[in-house]
Amino acid sequence: MELIDPFGRTVRDLRISITDRCNFRCTYCMPAEGMKWLPREEVLTYEELHRVASICVSHFDVDGIRLTGGEPTMRAHFPVLINKLSALQVPAAANSPRAGKPIDLAVTTNGATLRLIAQELHESGLRRINISLDTLKKQRFLEMTRRDELEHVLDGIDAAIATGFSPVKINVVVQRGVNDDEIVDLATFGRNKGVEVRFIEYMPLDADGTWQNNQVVGQDEIVETISKVYPLELVPARGAAPADRWRYLDGMGTVGVIPSVTKPFCGDCDRVRLTADGQFRTCLFSTTEFDLRKLLRNGASDDDIAEEIKRAVGTKWAGHNIGNVTFVRPRRSMSQIGG
Ligand code: SAM
Ligand code: SF4
Repeated sequence: MELIDPFGRTVRDLRISITDRCNFRCTYCMPAEGMKWLPREEVLTYEELHRVASICVSHFDVDGIRLTGGEPTMRAHFPVLINKLSALQVPAAANSPRAGKPIDLAVTTNGATLRLIAQELHESGLRRINISLDTLKKQRFLEMTRRDELEHVLDGIDAAIATGFSPVKINVVVQRGVNDDEIVDLATFGRNKGVEVRFIEYMPLDADGTWQNNQVVGQDEIVETISKVYPLELVPARGAAPADRWRYLDGMGTVGVIPSVTKPFCGDCDRVRLTADGQFRTCLFSTTEFDLRKLLRNGASDDDIAEEIKRAVGTKWAGHNIGNVTFVRPRRSMSQIGG
């Protein structure tokens, strides 16, 4: 059965935050110090995560799962989870191009320890990986992530490519006056490595709560900046994917922009989210959560859990309101919700 929200959008994609912990402290995501971690017993076990994922796939034909955090590679025995989830099959009768095939499993990581586990992740069944990289400058990397890890991240990207992940994508959050002078350099980096760079508009999900509209570099400006150096043409039909994509006219691949703030794509949103502590959310910016952990730990049946997921999706709103006076920031910040 498909899971359809009140605005007629079908849920296809589940984002799971598997931990709120992280080895970086990116300024646009976490505070420098004092982050309060979830107590260990509140974090869903791999069995519990797998159970929710498998209910979403078997009951609702969800065909894509992305694991995120926090930093997913911080979770002990991460390949064990990949192994369990990559075995999930989309029902044969599903209205999906992946019907009867394994789900589309992906991971978003900061890449710092990727060299150490890339091979094992691949052997466990992972094929798609997004790696975050906001700057190619050592000192700026240190300032933006508060960690001196640029070399390890670059090495992690090379390891992912060499291991055969496909696609490898690079996520870049662009902030005015911080790294907007590197848009072309980062695009060049992607072209040279043969990977798609996806520029992400800065969203009001920083833990420090200092986000301001004038720090956002919008999609139009990003595309114009790149196309002055590398002419581009739009790749039509984004569908439910968050990124708009452009092709380099010289055949050197594609580049994407996720315009969450200046051109929200809520009308096509097919995503739902599960936080590391088992709270189900229908939007990154939701102010309401549905407690699946309580059900998981109180003997609820798969059907009971599916019912609660259906109830949550029944409350999904048309879209977020960033930039309007009515916008309310969610209580939790990016690393706690899962980007
Ligand atoms: N730790 C992993 C990483 O950084 O790739 C996964 C979790 S992180 C929260 C997921 C994505 O969200 C990253 O690409 C990150 O750059 C992005 N992100 C974090 N805070 C953001 C913000 N305030 N606005 C836009 N994107 C943000
Ligand atoms: Fe950690 Fe990713 Fe947030 Fe940076 S963006 S602090 S790497 S969770």
